[in-house]
Amino acid sequence: MTKQNNVVVTPEVKSCINTLISTVVLPSAATAPESMAVIGGFLGFSHNNFIKRLEGSNVNGWIDSMRAASPTRVKSSENYQEKCSWILFHPSALKVFDQILFNSKGKQIVFFLDYDGTLSPIVADPDKAFMTRKMRGTLKDVARNFPTAIVTGRCRDKVFNFVKLAELYYAASHGMDIMGPTKNQTTAKSKSDSNNKAVLFQPASQFLPMIDEVYKILLEKTKSVPGAMVENNKYCLSVHFRCVDEKSWAPLAEKVRLVLNEYPKLRLTQGRKVLEIRPTIKWDKGKALEFLLESLGYENSNDVFPIYIGDDRTDEDAFKVLSRRGQGVGILVSSVPKETDASYTLQDPSEVENFLRRLVEWKRLSSVNPTSAYRVVD
Ligand SMILES: [Mg+2]
Repeated sequence: MTKQNNVVVTPEVKSCINTLISTVVLPSAATAPESMAVIGGFLGFSHNNFIKRLEGSNVNGWIDSMRAASPTRVKSSENYQEKCSWILFHPSALKVFDQILFNSKGKQIVFFLDYDGTLSPIVADPDKAFMTRKMRGTLKDVARNFPTAIVTGRCRDKVFNFVKLAELYYAASHGMDIMGPTKNQTTAKSKSDSNNKAVLFQPASQFLPMIDEVYKILLEKTKSVPGAMVENNKYCLSVHFRCVDEKSWAPLAEKVRLVLNEYPKLRLTQGRKVLEIRPTIKWDKGKALEFLLESLGYENSNDVFPIYIGDDRTDEDAFKVLSRRGQGVGILVSSVPKETDASYTLQDPSEVENFLRRLVEWKRLSSVNPTSAYRVVD
């Protein structure tokens, strides 16, 4: 079992502590772990309130929340100090790699991976969010050694066309379209796919006609806004702002709001330069994670170590589930500070690939020589 929000002293963290010490006056008796808390408190940053959470049901709230989820590059020294403080609470998963392994000892590692911004870079055209051949090779090796699921807001067909690996589980449309094993035949709608392998769980099936209807309306209403893109993810819709001039964000969001006013059974969430529309059912990436764990036989088990890696606000639902269960680790992909319930961070998809590759290599070595598999760094 992993304590969430563990503070780990790594060289990077020490460097940040030194930076902070050089800029603020700290109690001289503070020792390393306590000093981190002191630094956070001294600077007025609790790790959960580090960045003010911006939420709201009005257009300005949506825009603010999208900006918060899509921060620009850190430039000022003040922001650099913020980043240092953030790193203290959310160290790099690469720096604490051995500790993560140690915490997983004797447990089955199960991977849950977001797609956009995690396995592939964020690109202007969402239809061109390809992952590298290297990432695909690593992902294939990961799936060979650990149960692995892609958890994404994309529709299943689209993400499968990007990933192209039949051996993975897919929880698409924010978990509302799951291809994978299930034990709960009473609540799950099951059928085989074209390969006669998959079982589907689609808790929002009854919303399909409504989603299609709103998709067509949004296409029409948003076509006057240059750069606006509406993506049909089958059980949810995405209105992409990536190619829209920021001056047009508010008018575009207002158009979305007016459409949604007519559909109280749909709700809206914000992501990285995207507004997402989905059914009001209580189902999200966190629920999908729990469903897949149950399907794998780990519903009430302490013998599992889920590792969830994602970059988006919608991934926070899964981080919260891990935190509540006290199992595994959540890893946020971000190079800039964001409010998160994840324990650790990775900067970008290339670091994700590096982390996954190291796990595969560790698995290979541990199968050759189990006694040397766990080594904890100082
Ligand atoms: Mg993402």
